[in-house]
Amino acid sequence: MPTPSPAVCDYEGSTYRKDFWEGKGRDYEDAVERIALRRLLPTAGQRYVDFGGGFGRLVDEAARYDQVVLMDYSRSMLQDAQTRLGQSDRMIYVAADVYHLPFADNAFDVGIMCRVIHHLRDAPAALRQIRASMTPDATFLLEFANKQNFKAIVRYLLRLQTWSPYSHEPIEFVELNFDFHPAYIQAALKAAGFEPQRRLAVSSLRLGLLKRLLPLGLMVALDRVIQPTGGVLPISPSIFVENKTSGSRTPVAPLEALFKCPSCGAAPLRRERDVMLCPTHGHRWAIHNGIYDFKEPLTS
Ligand SMILES: [Zn+2]
Repeated sequence: MPTPSPAVCDYEGSTYRKDFWEGKGRDYEDAVERIALRRLLPTAGQRYVDFGGGFGRLVDEAARYDQVVLMDYSRSMLQDAQTRLGQSDRMIYVAADVYHLPFADNAFDVGIMCRVIHHLRDAPAALRQIRASMTPDATFLLEFANKQNFKAIVRYLLRLQTWSPYSHEPIEFVELNFDFHPAYIQAALKAAGFEPQRRLAVSSLRLGLLKRLLPLGLMVALDRVIQPTGGVLPISPSIFVENKTSGSRTPVAPLEALFKCPSCGAAPLRRERDVMLCPTHGHRWAIHNGIYDFKEPLTS
C-alpha cells in the first residue's frame, strides 16, 4: 500500500482563473513571474512539465520545448486548460497527487512548480517525488512564498506579528498556506537531490499602495532590476530558485514509457483503450476526455 498523502489544497471546481487572475489586479505578478521564468528556463528541451500548472496560465512560456505535460490535482482546471489549449501529442494533461506522482524515471528534462509549494504540508516529500521524475542534467524551477519578506520583517520589528521571519521552519498563516524560509527550501532541495543555482527575488513591489500609485510598466521594469538581488538579499514575497540535477544529459523516456503506477511504482503502464494498466498489481487508471487521471484507481 502506498503511504497516505498529507491533506491537499484542492482546487477542484474552483474558479481560480476568473476569481484570482483575470481582471483582478494581478497583471504585475503575472508579468514578473514570466520574466523570472524566461531568465531561468533553458533555451531548448525535450519534455517540460508544470507541476500544479492549474489552468495552464504559464504554458505559453514552454513554447520552445518538444512536449509539454500539464499536471494538476484539479481535474476541472485541467479541463479548462484543455478547452483553451487543445489536445495533441505535444500537450499532455495529467491529474495526479504531487505526493504520489505517476511519472517514470527520466520523464522530464525541464520542470517548473510555481505558486504550488505554499499549499504543501510536506514540501520535502513533494520535492523528492519531483526529483525522481527528472533526467540527469535537468532543470527544475521552484517558486515559493518567502516568510523572510520585507513586509514580515517590518511587522515583526514593530511587534505587529508574533512569528519571526528569520526562523527557518515554515509558517502556516492560513490552513494549507505556508510561507517558507529560503534556507529551509535550499536544504529541502538539496536533500531531495537537486543542486540549487540562481535565485531571483520576485514581486517585491506587491503592495496595494504601490499598485495604485505606479503604472504597471514601471512596476514591471523595477521588478526586473530587483530580481537578481534574490541571490544575496532574498526579502521579496516570492522567490524563484533554479535547480539542476547532476550527471550527463540523457534522452527523456519515450511517451509509451512516461508513466509509472502511482500506487505501487511499477512501470511502464500499458494502455488499453482509455485505461492505463499497472503491469505488477493490475491497478487501473482512467483516461477521461484525453486527461490521464491518476488521482484514484478504477475499481471495476
Ligand atoms: Zn500498481
